[in-house]
Amino acid sequence: MQLSKIINGWKHYFTDNSEVEEMAKERIKHCIECPQKKESKVFGWVKDEVEEISSTICGKCNCPLAMKVRSINENCPLKKW
Ligand code: SF4
Repeated sequence: MQLSKIINGWKHYFTDNSEVEEMAKERIKHCIECPQKKESKVFGWVKDEVEEISSTICGKCNCPLAMKVRSINENCPLKKW
């Protein structure tokens, strides 16, 4: 993931934006069901109100999911969203 996308995801993780949260909810639906969703010790502190993606990463890019789904221009590596 590009640095600008990482920064965008972190920014929206730590701030409250209703449009971003709606986008994240739609993306999370796919990640919850995805076999690439992995538990992470490194990013164990990255929690989400959706418990299923708390402390998880995408196994394709190793990004914390709670931040990845909030990065506006980010894409799923498997094109699920
Ligand atoms: S971003 Fe895509 S590949 Fe990664 S866990 Fe979510 S749905 Fe799966």
